[in-house]
Amino acid sequence: MSLSFNLDGKVALVTGGNTGLGQAMAIALAQAGADIVVAGRSSAAETGEAVESAGRKFYEIKADFSDPSCVEGVVATTVEQAGRIDILVNNAGIIKRNDALDFTQDDWDSVMDVNIKSAFFLCQAAAKRMVAQGSGKIINIASMLSFQGGIRVASYTSSKSAIAGLTKLLANEWAAKGINVNAIAPGYFATNNTAALQADPDRNEQILGRIPAGRWGDPSDIGGAAVFLSSAAADYVHGTVLAVDGGWLAR
Ligand code: NAP
Repeated sequence: MSLSFNLDGKVALVTGGNTGLGQAMAIALAQAGADIVVAGRSSAAETGEAVESAGRKFYEIKADFSDPSCVEGVVATTVEQAGRIDILVNNAGIIKRNDALDFTQDDWDSVMDVNIKSAFFLCQAAAKRMVAQGSGKIINIASMLSFQGGIRVASYTSSKSAIAGLTKLLANEWAAKGINVNAIAPGYFATNNTAALQADPDRNEQILGRIPAGRWGDPSDIGGAAVFLSSAAADYVHGTVLAVDGGWLAR
């Protein structure tokens, strides 16, 4: 059997694919051959142009994952419009910062709803189709805070630690059904998610000083991992949390 990273004929649903890491992964998957469906709350027109420039089809679904009840409709619409779903990238995510002593229930619930509850029910809705077709790839977006505690981000750390555990549980249940469930744990990438850290000179210096690669990640740095985990080359990879972190965890 020849090694293949080719995604020709595949359909990938990427949540939050209008910007940042989701946009970069959507474009990388398109460049590898997949048609792309982006689901999110902001226009993904820029991603659509890049996907179509790569010669692939592009579909957009408006969805706000702060309401997890939308997920079944998102997956059903993906299949209606694009014909199937082979790859799910659970990328949409938010972060709220506050001292643990002052952390509010709203900042807990809002992060959990998007980062873990919607993500789980998207996995479930996609897997129902993938089980029926006998194959599928699910990539959950984890974090360094799937391994570490972080600071001032109680709900975010909890949600991303949960994503790592959930990825392993789903791999255990679904590997024998032909579905690969894995996660990518990005290190520190220059996106909206980390704007507050980049803008804080002390935190910026502390973070850069610990990254062996000596720089923040650029969104384009994540595409290769997403293509690998979506492809036949990863058919025997189940339940792993792949760090793409410039060496952060090695320190
Ligand atoms: P980002 O630029 O803030 O992108 C987050 C994406 O999620 C955006 O598309 C955003 O849409 C979408 N989103 C947020 N809330 C949503 C909602 N309620 N409904 C639908 N879409 C929603 O940040 P990013 O860095 O690319 O983050 C992508 C993923 O990587 C997240 O899961 C994040 O936790 C994770 N991550 C990032 C880093 C990093 O260093 N940047 C590190 C580890 C993990 P809008 O544009 O409409 O807000």
